[in-house]
Amino acid sequence: MLKIPNLKKKEILAPYTTYKIGGLADYFVVATTSLELINAVKEARREKIPYFVLGTGANILFGDKGFRGLVIKNESNNFRLEKNILTAESGALISDLISETAKQSLSGLEHFAGIPSTVGGALWQNLHFLSPDRQRTIFIEEILANAKLLTENNEVIRVDKNFFQFRYDYSILHDQNLIVIEATFNLIPDTKENIQAQIQKNLEWRNEKQPSLDKYPSCGSVFKKVEGVGAGKLIQQVGLKGYKIGGIQSSEQHANFLVNTGNGTASDVIALIKLIQKNVKEETGYELETEIGLIGEF
Ligand SMILES: Cc1cc2nc3c(=O)[nH]c(=O)nc-3n(C[C@H](O)[C@H](O)[C@H](O)COP(=O)(O)OP(=O)(O)OC[C@H]3O[C@@H](n4cnc5c(N)ncnc54)[C@H](O)[C@@H]3O)c2cc1C
Repeated sequence: MLKIPNLKKKEILAPYTTYKIGGLADYFVVATTSLELINAVKEARREKIPYFVLGTGANILFGDKGFRGLVIKNESNNFRLEKNILTAESGALISDLISETAKQSLSGLEHFAGIPSTVGGALWQNLHFLSPDRQRTIFIEEILANAKLLTENNEVIRVDKNFFQFRYDYSILHDQNLIVIEATFNLIPDTKENIQAQIQKNLEWRNEKQPSLDKYPSCGSVFKKVEGVGAGKLIQQVGLKGYKIGGIQSSEQHANFLVNTGNGTASDVIALIKLIQKNVKEETGYELETEIGLIGEF
């Protein structure tokens, strides 16, 4: 028996994701502090129950049959600023951190404006964006100083950023059983005007190029970038831009976003992924790989 305060049973996962898709989790808890996060993970490990740490659910697809085990929704979101050094719990929203650091005239996070993410999710994937001015890709690793992790032996350790072996869409978190508890970022003083201007530019770019999450729930780009070609372009090339299976459609605005038009299921997403992969392979030779996590039972 899991001994976790406020534990829920048979919780529907869809509302906790940006895709608004996902069946029942056997067990579900919201962790509001680092300690609650650590205790929930330790308790699942002690009981040998599968667990999944969920941020804003912006880079994953839960299956229609849900998750056999414990989903820990990480809302540990305290943070502190000491001069230009920001230390945040892993469930802090990047958007909240952007607002606060912009107010304090500290630059670094504004490049990620408009991306749904917690600190934990950002380190998992080495959050990135073409900013400033679409000239180069900026990665979260560039401002990360160090982080506090829970190891698979239930030890809490502090590691510096090299530990993460960051690459494009990759950190060591993909391959080791480690939970981010807290992260420390080095920011750079700048004017409020410069920072606000960058936020504004990035949000405008997003509004123009990407389907709005409110209207079209999604988990962003589904397929990994194809260097020099673009996954979206390949989808368009094989005539599947705008194609719909069930409630899931390759967005007319951005073909690599497979959006939920209202009643989409995980099965619809998988069917569309497979169709796109098959047609792109047959017609162009490229093998599209998914960049989102497929979690639970499908
Ligand atoms: C509209 C839209 C636009 C997007 N644009 C971009 C973009 O421009 N650039 C970009 O890089 N991404 C983008 N994404 C993808 C997504 O926002 C990022 O991958 C983000 O970092 C996911 O964070 P999250 O908190 O939602 O993580 P989740 O999706 O909840 O989880 C992702 C993975 O991280 C793991 N994880 C979460 N927290 C922790 C923790 N504390 N410790 C260990 N592991 C943890 C989870 O277990 C899971 O495996 C976009 C997504 C959407 C919906």
